[in-house]
Amino acid sequence: LNMLKADVAVPIPIDTPLTYLIPSELQESIGVGTQVVVPVRNKVVTGVVCDVAPHEGDVAGLKSIREIASAPRFASELMKLARWISEYYIAPIGEVLGAMSPPHPRLRRVYRLLRKPGSLELEIMRASHPEHVCVLEALSGDRPLTLETIRRKTRLKGIARHLGSLEEGGYVSHQVFAGKRRGRRTKSRADSPPVDTELDSGFQLTQEQSEAYEGIAAAIDRGRSATFLLFGVTGSGKTEVYLRSIDHAVKKGRRAVYLVPEIGLTPQIMDRVRRRFGDRCGVLHSRLSSGERYSTWADIQSGRIDVVVGARSAIFAPVENLGVIIVDEEHDASYKQQESPRYNAREVAIVRAKEAGAVVILGSATPTIESYHNAVTGKYRLHELPERISGGDLPAVSVIDMRTTRDESPFSKEAQGSIGASVGREEQILLFLNRRGFSNYVQCRECGIVPRCRNCQVSLTYHLGRKVLRCHYCGYAERGWETCPKCGGTNIEYVGSGTQKVEEYISENFAEVSCVRFDRDSTRRKGSAESLLSDFSNGLVRFLVGTQMVAKGHDFRKVGLVVVVNADVSMNLPDFRAGERTFQILTQVAGRAGRGEVPGKVLIQTFNPDHHSLAHAACHDFKGFYEQEVLMRRDLRYPPFSRLARIVVESRRQESAKRAAEGFVSVAKALRDESIPGLDVMGPSRAPLSKIRNNYRWHLLLKGEERKSLSPFIRRCLRELDSRRLAEAARFSIDIDPQVMM
Ligand code: ADP
Ligand code: ZN
Repeated sequence: LNMLKADVAVPIPIDTPLTYLIPSELQESIGVGTQVVVPVRNKVVTGVVCDVAPHEGDVAGLKSIREIASAPRFASELMKLARWISEYYIAPIGEVLGAMSPPHPRLRRVYRLLRKPGSLELEIMRASHPEHVCVLEALSGDRPLTLETIRRKTRLKGIARHLGSLEEGGYVSHQVFAGKRRGRRTKSRADSPPVDTELDSGFQLTQEQSEAYEGIAAAIDRGRSATFLLFGVTGSGKTEVYLRSIDHAVKKGRRAVYLVPEIGLTPQIMDRVRRRFGDRCGVLHSRLSSGERYSTWADIQSGRIDVVVGARSAIFAPVENLGVIIVDEEHDASYKQQESPRYNAREVAIVRAKEAGAVVILGSATPTIESYHNAVTGKYRLHELPERISGGDLPAVSVIDMRTTRDESPFSKEAQGSIGASVGREEQILLFLNRRGFSNYVQCRECGIVPRCRNCQVSLTYHLGRKVLRCHYCGYAERGWETCPKCGGTNIEYVGSGTQKVEEYISENFAEVSCVRFDRDSTRRKGSAESLLSDFSNGLVRFLVGTQMVAKGHDFRKVGLVVVVNADVSMNLPDFRAGERTFQILTQVAGRAGRGEVPGKVLIQTFNPDHHSLAHAACHDFKGFYEQEVLMRRDLRYPPFSRLARIVVESRRQESAKRAAEGFVSVAKALRDESIPGLDVMGPSRAPLSKIRNNYRWHLLLKGEERKSLSPFIRRCLRELDSRRLAEAARFSIDIDPQVMM
């Protein structure tokens, strides 16, 4: 008897796949990539087959695969990618595959009436099973109904049993659907703009655009992987180059993945893609229901879709014959996933493209120092789009020194004047502040105490609506202070400004014009982000107050004034990328002004007017910024001149976290050898967020010279730590190429 066994990756945090016997009746249909249902401990889960091999010897103690899951199979290209991610980012393969596939939708049974009973039948039924008559009446309308609806209409118990007997009797039938409403997709297609298959929408590419496009098209034709960096301000025509490149690939029978930082916030992009590719494009993002995501996934896999647009995880779309991957706003931090697997979709895109022989196009007005460095050193191909298509000057930027302002208002005198003048000219105004809530923190003026979170080592933020003090890390909330709980003082100060304070200032001073706030608090409900934004784009609202979320890709035509309320929020982060982040965010926000007929003006308020990020952002000078920043990176040996891994050690007990972190450092120092060139171990130290959700946090940083050797070395350290039992009461999180140092 030939027995086969399968290694199955399961979505629980264990490092290796588990082995199961394959029942003989399933042997034909199970291969690498098949999703299967297996028992683990006392649960049943869906896992992915990673390997199939003959089984010799004893079967005792080996469990069997239960069945094949009703979920699509992973292509071998994606299985290979999963293995790379698992190894490079040090994440369990089951977790990686879990992140790659769409969540399983809840299945929905829909019942409909097949045949009405004749009058005699009905008499008999009424006497023997009156419930059945009720159910049939409920179904007598034209539309099929779900089990829940039938239950609600009839108010009967045991509704599944009644439906079962009626089905046996041939009166009703049912179908199973994945997810919620099937009909909605067709509707949203009908809503979409008319398809413009005549691609060239009447204009010729500029000289720079066509050079970039020609290069990309030739690379697609060669079928060998290459990475391009399109460097150009917003409005310089990057999207046009992406779309023509995708079109070129599609005409050659190949497909495309188009990544954007937050698809839910950039409906314009999806409109443009739909106009070009009609029904042949699909969108994947986290705001879709699991059913919607699932059915899009199935459409991609079956080849009905050529162009997939989506956020980070769309890089895993099961697209065959990939020709081009777009990574728009390549610098955006949201491409990096902050929980395991901690992958960066930009890096994954490049690895996937290598395997597929596809071209990657990275695009940004503010590329990462790493990408730009790769471009100037020839690893990527650089194309610049130096000017806005519509002409139009970049907005004039002035930096306002807040050290001289001693005022309760979030705005300097100068900003107040500019806002008033801009309102007078009936322009739209964007007020940017990367901090939600009312104030930065709250303080009793008499005894000086500041309310802090019980679970985290951070101060609480006051929120106006519910009048609560809230922790932005764990969600803990308590009632706002009217008097100080310690000294009974009544002089409570709200120090620093959040978006709510700015909103309040505007509504008090400009009561006659409307203002909306756009941040994580005001956009929690599904659809609210889109409606707030469209109110602003359509000019219904004069002021938009928002966090980072407003900086992403929106095309606001009538914005005459942008005020950065406090540029220091990002500048002061304990992170070697603080300067880069500040430059990016300021440039992006400033780019919201002056996009249309109105010449724009930008004011940046700061307590650090001499910071180099500010100076370069104010004159729209990315290259100047790069030249200065790259020197610092070289001196301190930070990326792109090294590779980093950050290790966070957490425990309920301060002592255990500290000891485990020290244990890691001593193991790393003991194990270092020539297999890991240029290794530098920094730390351990308390993490800047030293306690979150009652977990004490320590961290350390490893620097290495090359990409390849760091991950295997960390694995060796973890194994050694395990065998010496040095880390038992603590949890380790490994972050390769970290983007956050908190
Ligand atoms: P970006 O992606 O860099 O912000 P877009 O591709 O969106 O730039 O271009 C900005 C605007 O200019 C869009 O409305 C686009 O349709 C238009 N556009 C792009 N390229 C050209 C061109 N060569 N000639 C005329 N208009 C163009
Ligand atoms: Zn907290």
